[in-house]
Amino acid sequence: MDKLSIQVVGGSLGGLTTACLLRDAGHDVTVFERSSRELEERGAGIGFLPATYRYLADRKHIDVSQISIATDHIRYLGRDGSVLHDAEHRYLFSSWNTVYRQLLEAYEDGPYVLGHELVDFAADSRGVTGYYHCGTEHRSELLVAADGIGSMVRTRLQPSSERSYGGYVAWRGMVPEAELDADLGLFLSDAITYHVFANSHILVYPIPNADGSVAPGDRLINFVWYRNYLEGGDIDDLLTDCDGVKRDLSVPPGKVASHHEAEARATAAARLPSQLADVVLAAEHLFIQTIYDIEVDQMAFGRVALLGDAAFAVRPHAAAGTAKAADDGWMLAEALRTEADLGQALATWERTQLDLGRGLLARTRDVGSRSQVSNTWHPGDPDLIFGLHRPGD
Ligand SMILES: Cc1cc2nc3c(=O)[nH]c(=O)nc-3n(C[C@H](O)[C@H](O)[C@H](O)COP(=O)(O)OP(=O)(O)OC[C@H]3O[C@@H](n4cnc5c(N)ncnc54)[C@H](O)[C@@H]3O)c2cc1C
Repeated sequence: MDKLSIQVVGGSLGGLTTACLLRDAGHDVTVFERSSRELEERGAGIGFLPATYRYLADRKHIDVSQISIATDHIRYLGRDGSVLHDAEHRYLFSSWNTVYRQLLEAYEDGPYVLGHELVDFAADSRGVTGYYHCGTEHRSELLVAADGIGSMVRTRLQPSSERSYGGYVAWRGMVPEAELDADLGLFLSDAITYHVFANSHILVYPIPNADGSVAPGDRLINFVWYRNYLEGGDIDDLLTDCDGVKRDLSVPPGKVASHHEAEARATAAARLPSQLADVVLAAEHLFIQTIYDIEVDQMAFGRVALLGDAAFAVRPHAAAGTAKAADDGWMLAEALRTEADLGQALATWERTQLDLGRGLLARTRDVGSRSQVSNTWHPGDPDLIFGLHRPGD
């Protein structure tokens, strides 16, 4: 079909991948990002599935080994630190910052407009006008909403699809491997290491450092520890930061209330195998991300498309959130290439991506519930392998 003018709202991994693909296909693309600075604050690790790096590897010929760390074992530790289970399995891990920087570079001089928060939009049969907080109005033939879990576009178009709290949060942190005992650093840097205990689990894996270096000695050891908090006062108190400000989705490093941070470290010391407790105790700052589910029953609305977390926010247990956002972008570019008109393209795209989102959400809900509620998560269960479409794929 003809080339389109497209505004992409949200310049994180989903929005940027999509913008690169649509720009490569000859469309006239502009990305609008709410943040006034390039997004550098999200240093945490990500399981790095093929869809997440597909653009960088296939189109930009970036050597994935330079931006990620390969591990060859899935390992479970018992409470006494003994190895309960060790299976050979290759995963790649990277960090949000590393991937973001690479995608931004790949987008080259494509328009990426910071400090632009979409506050309203109006669509008609010929296009969409986006209204931004700073007063800018931008007209395009298609608006792609990649504005994440709190998407204002989704809230407007699917008010019934409210986020639902999963009942637990991820406590997270990172430690330079050089700050750990050398043997421990080695032990943790070639594996994803789990400990599963009552209504909780922690996983630990290596990631690039803040500068993106993946060289042994430079890397960080990253942990994600899932812990239950009741809806209401329990979670509200956790999300009230050290300045007394009630946060919505997350509490960033340095802002967690000291009594909660002290409790988490004390619990780590009391309940985790010493190797993993050492990591939690050595992290300079802990931070918190709340686990929410979002589900929509429509992703295409005339000339507006919702993708990534704006459409389906899935639990992190398949390490597939950024992969799903990227796949939404690949499939959108493909549908625009092959279909005769925009309506047909969005309808074709929506069919496959709704299926993907629903399937992944159901699978990750199940995995989460087995760990956090029913305690039926067993080492070696193939259903627990990361993957976008299914475990391992
Ligand atoms: C604990 C945890 C662990 C995870 N682990 C993994 C993992 O291992 N692997 C993995 O692939 N994924 C993982 N994820 C999921 C992953 O982080 C998300 O799925 C992914 O970031 C979604 O990307 P996105 O681009 O759709 O949205 P986001 O990254 O949320 O980006 C949305 C962007 O839109 C901008 N924005 C918002 N509103 C507006 C507006 N009105 N106007 C303009 N801009 C706006 C925001 O500033 C932001 O930059 C994890 C998530 C959590 C919580």
